[in-house]
Amino acid sequence: MALSRKEERDDLKKLANKLVIKSNLIWDEMTPIDRQAAERLAADYLSFLTASKTERAVVKNIRQILTGHGFVDLNQKKRAPGGGFLIHHEKLIGFFRPGRLSPEDGFNLIVAHGDSPRLDLKPKCVYEESGPGFGMLRTNLYGGLKKFQWLARPLALWGFCALKGGRTVEIIFGEEPDDPVLTIPDLLPHLDRKVQRDKKIGEAIVADKMNLLAVSIPLGRPRDKDRFKLAVLKILYDRWGLVEEDLVSSEIEIVPAGPARSVGFDASLLGGYGQDDRLPVFATLAAVAEVKKPDRPTLVIIYDREEIGSYGSVGASGNFIEHLAARAFEAVGLDVHWSKVREALLKTQALSADVEAGVDPDYKEVHEELNSAHIGRGPCLVRYTGGTGKYGASEASAEYVSRVRSAFAKAGVLWQSAILGKQEEGGGGTVALYLAAYGLNIVDCGPPVISMHSPFEISSKADLWMTVRAYAAFLKM
Ligand code: MN
Ligand code: MN
Repeated sequence: MALSRKEERDDLKKLANKLVIKSNLIWDEMTPIDRQAAERLAADYLSFLTASKTERAVVKNIRQILTGHGFVDLNQKKRAPGGGFLIHHEKLIGFFRPGRLSPEDGFNLIVAHGDSPRLDLKPKCVYEESGPGFGMLRTNLYGGLKKFQWLARPLALWGFCALKGGRTVEIIFGEEPDDPVLTIPDLLPHLDRKVQRDKKIGEAIVADKMNLLAVSIPLGRPRDKDRFKLAVLKILYDRWGLVEEDLVSSEIEIVPAGPARSVGFDASLLGGYGQDDRLPVFATLAAVAEVKKPDRPTLVIIYDREEIGSYGSVGASGNFIEHLAARAFEAVGLDVHWSKVREALLKTQALSADVEAGVDPDYKEVHEELNSAHIGRGPCLVRYTGGTGKYGASEASAEYVSRVRSAFAKAGVLWQSAILGKQEEGGGGTVALYLAAYGLNIVDCGPPVISMHSPFEISSKADLWMTVRAYAAFLKM
């Protein structure tokens, strides 16, 4: 007997429900209690983000949070049945929490990065433009940023200075509401035609013209030499005890001034500098706080230098993980045999917790709509990153992705599958490939962000909340 039209439609609906991949909007699925929990989490996250504008600040704040949860410094205590952390050069932090199983059987590892694109001060940075009437500071780009976004806006200075003789000084300037800020001027539209407007956008702003206005009141009298530069140096000396040579052994970062905040009439979004990758960092900490007694031991590493290719002594291309894994063995009373440590790493399963490019509603054309990430639909499982032709991609195996999505399903995690942009549009990578080199399983997993690498990146409160659930489900896996 033929089906009625209604029966036919019901059958199709059932079939679609069974066969088609789901990508639900989290807001549709949240209860009022969930929404309250997401709001509380977002408030904590906004404070963390506001207070964590450099890789050093990230490490310092994580140390404080971990200490509050009973983790000990593995450089001070060898045994750490409650978990321990290891800090390297104050810019890289790894930590360990014992599980029911031995570290010899492998870890559940989450890796993320604490650095974000920014401007640094050059080692010799103080100079003057006496004609226009300014003492100024020269900057150096760090990471992939769009230069024009950093002009004509309030900027803050976060510095760590190592003076001659070993004294160190930390500076935060421009963050308190009543503080003055710094800024890089931009040219007025009336006069920018030849030097900016008629050029390609990437060439319109010259990196070496991105200099900060530091002072406009000189020292001395009109005929004195270098009086604007001296005015800058005098302030650096009077306030922080720095002489010009101390700037050579200083790390001074220029970041957007002011707090991270809620965005939208409905306050559903999160806006702030450095969400790549501090949102996944924060979500990892929240998940670790939740999963106090995992089966497999937890390992977390927050690397520095990801934004410039993971090079250097605190980047993911180094071998800090071997050191941390060995200390984790010792922390639970095991002897360190390197073959056993390497075997544990081989058996490790990992998430690379990094943000994904969310679809920009005004530039949908650069995304491939079937495989792009949408704000509000949860963390993305990204099987591979890299460029066209999968160059530079470690690519997670089918079996491993299957295990992760099963763990997510068991915990009721809403997630989405995504890859970065269309082929031949560009590309990008994460730290995943450096960890994959140990032979371990790793897949990228993080929430979508729009305006990525800008001074005001945007994410969703629902995604933050769901990302914590996803990472917690992974730690229990
Ligand atoms: Mn990132
Ligand atoms: Mn990035």
